Amino acid sequence: MLSSIKIGYGWDSHEFKTGVPLKIGGVPIDHPQGLAGHSDGDVLLHAVTDALLGAIGAPDIGTIFPPSDSQWKGADSAVFLAEALKRVESAGYQVGNIDSTLILASPKIGPHAANIRKSLAKLVNVPENCLGLKAKTPEGMGTDNAAIAHAVVLLQKV
Ligand SMILES: [Zn+2]
Repeated sequence: MLSSIKIGYGWDSHEFKTGVPLKIGGVPIDHPQGLAGHSDGDVLLHAVTDALLGAIGAPDIGTIFPPSDSQWKGADSAVFLAEALKRVESAGYQVGNIDSTLILASPKIGPHAANIRKSLAKLVNVPENCLGLKAKTPEGMGTDNAAIAHAVVLLQKV
């Protein structure tokens, strides 16, 4: 029997690197540094993807899209998210809501928050009021050279 609701949690981090374009939640952000990674380094999409996969007990993002596989080099992370959503649908669920937190020293997310929420809502295909996004600075954590994202999702049985 399928449970009527399922929770999923995802976490990701990427290091800032000069000369790499910055993309968060599918939104390109003008900044001198971007997030290094095998794909486009979109830390928020990776955390949300892992939360979706975790909720249905699927393998994690790194298992489904191994960094050792050259076809994912520089990949648009929206592809990973779309695959996770496809698996959620196949499992008989839909996204109820998502909440997320970004932790990074710079750039300030405030001016981009509305765009990021809009982009993520569109990618996940939920209304914007089903999508939470908070941005924090890493006070006392010593992670100023990284961007960290946490995400939780709630799935509902269709
Ligand atoms: Zn990642």
